This record gives sequence, C-alpha cells and structure tokens, in this order.
Amino acid sequence: MPTRFAPSPTGLLHLGHAYAAVFARDLAKANQTQFLLRFEDIDTTRVREHYYLAIEQDLDWLGIAWDGAPLRQTDRLSVYAQVLETLKSLDVVYPCFCTRREILNEIANIGGAPHINNDSGETNYPGTCRALSAEQRQERILAGEAHCWRLDSRAAAELTEPLSFEDKIHGKVQVDPDILGDVVLARKDIPTSYHIAVVADDAMQQVTHVTRGEDLLTSTHIHRTLQHLLGYPEPLYHHHRLILDDQHKRLAKRDKALSIQTLREQGKSPEEVLAMLT
Ligand code: GLU
Repeated sequence: MPTRFAPSPTGLLHLGHAYAAVFARDLAKANQTQFLLRFEDIDTTRVREHYYLAIEQDLDWLGIAWDGAPLRQTDRLSVYAQVLETLKSLDVVYPCFCTRREILNEIANIGGAPHINNDSGETNYPGTCRALSAEQRQERILAGEAHCWRLDSRAAAELTEPLSFEDKIHGKVQVDPDILGDVVLARKDIPTSYHIAVVADDAMQQVTHVTRGEDLLTSTHIHRTLQHLLGYPEPLYHHHRLILDDQHKRLAKRDKALSIQTLREQGKSPEEVLAMLT
C-alpha cells in the first residue's frame, strides 16, 4: 500500500512540506509499505535544478528516508501525452485557444457572480471554446494556433456519474466533475498539467494511499473523474491539515523564515524541527 510525497522543485522545503512528508512516511511505516518520492517538475519555467538536491538533503537531514529512486515527472511527458490522446478519443477534452486576457474579458462581459476556483483563487473558465465546432478546432490547430486542452466537465459527468471517493477525514465524498469548471488538463507548452500527471503516476506507481494537504481536496474531484475515465484503480485519500504561519496563513515558498534550510542554519536540530510540526 505505497504512499508518496510529491514536492515541486520550485523552492525550498518548508515546515508544511515536512509535515506532508512525515505524514506519508508514517502511514507507509504503519502499513509496512513503500514511501515514494516524486518530483512534480513539469512547470519548467519555475523549476530550478538545485532544488532537487536541496529537497533530498532536507529530507535526509530530517531523517525521512524514501524507497527507490525518486520519480521525475519530466521523464514521463510521453506517457502523459498518451493519456491525453486517450481522453481525446473519449471526447472529454477540447482545445482552448483563449489567452488569459480573453478569458478575463469574457468573464467581465458575462457579469454575474463568478464561480471562484478554490485551488487557485481564480475564476473558473467560462467555457468559450467549448462552443467551437470540430471543423473550427481542426482548422485552428492546423493553423498552428497555441492551445491548451481542457476537461469538458459536462461530457465527463455524463460518463462518470455518480462517482465518489473515500477520504479519511471527510468520509465518502460525492464527486463533482465541474467543481473547478473546465480545468486545464494539458498546458499550451506541455502535454500535461498537474492533474493528468498525478493520476498517471499514482496508477503507475500503484499508490494506494494519497495523502496531501486539504487545499487539494477540490482537485481530487478531477482526479477521481480521470481515474474512472482511464480505468485506473481508486486510491484512498487523506487530506490533512496545513501548517499555518503566525498570521494563520498557509506557508508559501516565499516565506523563507520557516524553510527547513533556514531552521537548520539557525542551529535547530532535526528533532526540534520535527517537534514544531505537532
Ligand atoms: N505538489 C503538491 C504539493 O506540494 C502535492 C500534490 C499531490 O500530492 O498530489 O502540495
């Protein structure tokens, strides 16, 4: 029953990451199973090479050992591209040619109460490109127009409903494939997004327990939808609390103060840092 810890090498580990890593490691230990390390490094504009090693060093220093070689998502782009092809053949994705500005303008034009996407704090996509015909899509793709691929949440709902997932804290959760609107499944620059990569990796690595911060609970609706569409097994979920700073805000990579490296440089011992997590 493997678990995994999946940091992005876009910054240093902070106390929130340490909490997530210890949480997944302890569950693996309790189940006498593997604890895997996965680098979510698809966002190459933000990834920096030195963070891979820094993350491994911080985990080492904290005494958090993982099993096997860490997986790098950038090594699996061709797998994600195949997954995207499968989703295209199921007719549950569509190309979107909108720029960020066009989306914002469209939302402003529509007026009314925008549907805020909990994960990013952004407004859900208004669905502009869903209305394009197959010919229009083909024409624009052939013309080389930049496009991402979005989940057609309505089409997905028809193929998946009713669907649920099990969460240790929240119990049985009814899936709403539209919870994040027609979310991006493959970005303009790469044939994936977080969502495709995470479900493909969890399936390939046979992860049975997905533990992660509760800020990702809404994403799990998308993941469960994709798992069902792709015939992947269903993991159990445990969305745990987030570590907050003094102002009760969640920690971010820009908060250098609580990075593991800073705490180490201040002379804290691994035991003292781990004690800060409780
Ligand atoms: N990369 C995410 C994070 O650091 C974790 C995503 C996941 O566990 O699915 O919060």
